Amino acid sequence: MIVFLKSKISKSEADELFGFLKSRKISFEEIRCGETRFLYLCSGIDNLKPGEPENFSAVKRVSGAENEHPLVSSLDENFAVKIKNHTVSKKHFAVMAGPCTISSEEEADKIASALSKSGVKFLRGGTFKLRTSPYSFGGLGKEGVDILQKIAQKYDMISITELTEISQIEFLADKIDILQVGTRNMQNYPLLRELGHINNPVILKRGMSSSLKEWLLAAEHIIKSGNSNVILCERGIKTFENYTRNTLDISAVSALKNMCGLPVIVDPSHSTGRSDMIKSVSWAATAAGADGIIVETHFNPDSAICDSRQHITVEELNSITEKLPVLMKLWDKEKS
Ligand code: PEP
Ligand code: MN
Repeated sequence: MIVFLKSKISKSEADELFGFLKSRKISFEEIRCGETRFLYLCSGIDNLKPGEPENFSAVKRVSGAENEHPLVSSLDENFAVKIKNHTVSKKHFAVMAGPCTISSEEEADKIASALSKSGVKFLRGGTFKLRTSPYSFGGLGKEGVDILQKIAQKYDMISITELTEISQIEFLADKIDILQVGTRNMQNYPLLRELGHINNPVILKRGMSSSLKEWLLAAEHIIKSGNSNVILCERGIKTFENYTRNTLDISAVSALKNMCGLPVIVDPSHSTGRSDMIKSVSWAATAAGADGIIVETHFNPDSAICDSRQHITVEELNSITEKLPVLMKLWDKEKS
């Protein structure tokens, strides 16, 4: 059960409520986030009578905990994720690009060099990969992380890589700027909770069969554990359609605007699985109000070690990004 408190309560009102809960042997946790202040009643709620504790003057409302994401909801449109001198927020637009998976230092250097010349500031590169088939390339692991770190530093870019297990957090948090939770791990709650103990921003990709509610509750796990630097990424969901790899839920971008202040980026690569659709989908996402795009990009898509059919060239990415300012204007966004 969650007990939301009124924004202005006196000490005696608070003492009265806390004393009552203790007298009923109810254990609770007090949580604050900006203006939002609430009590999470962890145990002993069977000791409450109907109408309790709504009748206390400190209480604004009481809710069953299961469907609430009070911390996510408390972040408004002014919320911003800051990373070095960049900001990812509802008022900014971030272009994130790079290969699905890093396969060598030379390759990563060549891609990052071209992206950086084009003004891209966020460099993605897979290092620990969760592959559907056990026979697919699983990434270079720590060696890949060292390459990504070195190359991002060389070109003064913000590095992004996916993590797959709790044991990687300590190693990655020092070396990589933004950690990504992939679709397959969106409901790995122990992993999400551990990510709450670091400060690195987390890109939380939508589970391929997850509702918006489940996705926001996953974000709530990270924020409740202490890290509110969460960026949501819509990457398509499973439907009966198989022309595209997944079905991009463009309406999620719109819906999330009303539901929370967390920035929402769109992944046109894993949602469509098709390089010929990246341009239109990126523009559609920006027009819908997305706060950024994350695009698999390679100097020679055919040679990308994973997901080659959905990579675009840096030149193609440029042809997309040059038109973005017009669409960003619709939402008064500036470049991250
Ligand atoms: C990725 O971004 O490299 C990736 C594997 O994406 P997803 O988890 O969305 O499939
Ligand atoms: Mn990929």
